Amino acid sequence: MPIVDDLAKGRAILGDLVSGAGRAVVFTGAGISTESGIPDFRSPGGIWSQMEPIYFEDFLLSEQARREDWRRRFEMRKLFSEAQPNAAHRAIASLVESGIVSYVITQNIDGLHQRSGVLDERVIELHGNAVDAACLECAHGMSFDTAQAIIEAEDRAPRCPVCGGLVKARVINFGQPMPVDEMERAEIATDDCDLFVAVGSSLVVYPAAGFPLAAKSHGATLVIVNRDPTDQDMAADYVLRGPIGALFEPLAPT
Ligand code: NAD
Repeated sequence: MPIVDDLAKGRAILGDLVSGAGRAVVFTGAGISTESGIPDFRSPGGIWSQMEPIYFEDFLLSEQARREDWRRRFEMRKLFSEAQPNAAHRAIASLVESGIVSYVITQNIDGLHQRSGVLDERVIELHGNAVDAACLECAHGMSFDTAQAIIEAEDRAPRCPVCGGLVKARVINFGQPMPVDEMERAEIATDDCDLFVAVGSSLVVYPAAGFPLAAKSHGATLVIVNRDPTDQDMAADYVLRGPIGALFEPLAPT
């Protein structure tokens, strides 16, 4: 497991691996979006140093937790809409367009892969997204604008107009069941790839963090691109340590 922390060498390795790949999968975490101005979870100054996560069970049981979850979602929507995709998002979009990368499996909820030009059907969002909301009972959709208007008018978290169930942003909170279709699609893509590039993830949130190891056990070359060490570095064929944007920059369209 060579650990490469020299930028030029890291770029060269990444370029060679990508150009030699038949079907690559890119797996992303919050670290790919920090250079777009969105804090990650576990870096110093990251989101968990500022607030506690809201568990799914608390959302179900407590009106106060629901209101706080919505408050954070509205804040995030603003942050995400102001952020722009960076060189790494753009490089990955161009690799998808050229057919080298089959799928982008992401833990992120910020929508920056789609905004950098990756088609919806090529992005697998394991933890949902912060674009809109749905009823937890009947899956009836609701826009954030409608949810916000209901909260302001009724001074309570929104309920489904069809069945009365709790409405929640389509983001997977800790303790919430994983989306079945996305997990299945991610498993198929992982089993089918010959190169798996994990980018900007501490690889501690399971089941998502199981995909790099699954790819490796199916025979894919595993590359981890991250600033800090991860528990899976030992399993990787290459560990590229450094700023993600700079490592991907040569692969981005000019
Ligand atoms: P994490 O915060 O646990 O780890 C991020 C990793 O990225 C860290 O190990 C850090 O070293 C690395 N990193 C940060 N900036 C970097 C940079 N510029 N260059 C190189 N490396 C950099 O994030 P994770 O593993 O994705 O955690 C999982 C959860 O975080 C997911 O569930 C995801 O939904 C959520 N999350 C998403 C966003 C987003 O959508 N942008 C933001 C925060 C958290």
